[in-house]
Amino acid sequence: MPSVEIVAVGTELLLGQLVDTNTPFIASELARAGIDVRATQSVGDNRERIAAAVRTSLARAQGVVMTGGLGPTIDDLTREAVCDALDVGTKLYEPALLQMEAVFARFGRPMRANNRKQAELPTGSLPLDNPRGTAPGFVAFASDGKFVACMPGVPREMKPMLREQVVPFLRERFGARETIVTRVLHTIGLGESEIDHRIADLFGSYENPKIALLAHDFRADVKIMAKAPTADEADAMIAPLQAEIVRRLEDGVFGYDADTPASAILNLMRSQQRRLAVAESCTGGRIAAALTSVAGSSQSFVGAVVAYDNAVKISQLGVDAGTLQRNGAVSDDVAREMARGARARLGANVALATTGVAGPDGGTAEKPVGLVLFALDDGTENSRVWNFRLEGDREAIQQRATVMALNLLWRYAKGQEP
Ligand code: ATP
Ligand code: MG
Repeated sequence: MPSVEIVAVGTELLLGQLVDTNTPFIASELARAGIDVRATQSVGDNRERIAAAVRTSLARAQGVVMTGGLGPTIDDLTREAVCDALDVGTKLYEPALLQMEAVFARFGRPMRANNRKQAELPTGSLPLDNPRGTAPGFVAFASDGKFVACMPGVPREMKPMLREQVVPFLRERFGARETIVTRVLHTIGLGESEIDHRIADLFGSYENPKIALLAHDFRADVKIMAKAPTADEADAMIAPLQAEIVRRLEDGVFGYDADTPASAILNLMRSQQRRLAVAESCTGGRIAAALTSVAGSSQSFVGAVVAYDNAVKISQLGVDAGTLQRNGAVSDDVAREMARGARARLGANVALATTGVAGPDGGTAEKPVGLVLFALDDGTENSRVWNFRLEGDREAIQQRATVMALNLLWRYAKGQEP
């Protein structure tokens, strides 16, 4: 199977000053086009080392896709380094030069002598237009037919050049290969080992489509990837396996691909014509942030009270001062009253409240750091309180409590016993 490698050029990448977003973008576009990426490299703005990286990649793969270092300045060395690696000279490409002159005229900027160097491409190259910038890209060829495709580093110039010129070149070159489709099944509230236990037999028995499990806190994604000549055929290969996995993980799958726990909750609430409110103490607004990040959330999410100080729990949520004094803020009764108050005062049908000890201080033997209580109130006997002991530092406890709250809300909205 023919494959390519990706090389990203830029010293900033090696100093941690610039996050390389180009490599993952190129990798995912190539995967969609069914082109195998064998390895990726990052290299600084150094002529010898860029040339060495190109040679290394060309020894292993049929071609290299590069980004960065095509500009006019002294540290833009990709053109020269590719010539070194392929042992070819440069040639002035008149059409590329004319195109560049046109771009400068359009931008109303004078073209400097050093810009001319951008039109000097490795001999025998196929130039690539760059209508959004000045530096043309190119595909250069080695004597054995292997190739090096070079694109600018600026993402808004690189992306269209990749999609419109480099990917078509690669598909043509590799004989319009297969495409890879990925479906992600999102789960919540099922442990990684529980999921593994339920679907382990499927992992071993499938090569295409292939299954992968990615675990987060209380959340896990099952990825199904299929390779086929067309996306429709890949979808058809995924469908039966997806149905089988959903059947086995039914009580945990809240959505697919771009869905989030919050979007799943709000979809359910909207279809049930219910309105949700939140009262947050230890989660500090994180649940509301997750809910409001969903477009159109105002249809079923009314709002939140972040009630940190006891005085706010009393004045804004109507928590009883006596309850607070007797039981403390981290108690079943306070959680219950917070939820009830939020539901009534914010005009919702359902409300969820959180209160807990996020740490690092404030823990006691009876109420240790990580103890978090969740109360749900819908005005019926279904209203209830849960308590969990969560692990980690303050940030982790707040984050985990937020996911836990979303898990409880999703199960409630589904009509499942949380
Ligand atoms: P220019 O003509 O602007 O000099 P270039 O092809 O020489 O383009 P670089 O000089 O390597 O590209 O990078 C220009 C800018 O593009 C960087 O400062 C950075 O903002 C962005 N960039 C470069 N490489 C990457 C990358 N791998 N991921 C994300 N952004 C990048
Ligand atoms: Mg540059």
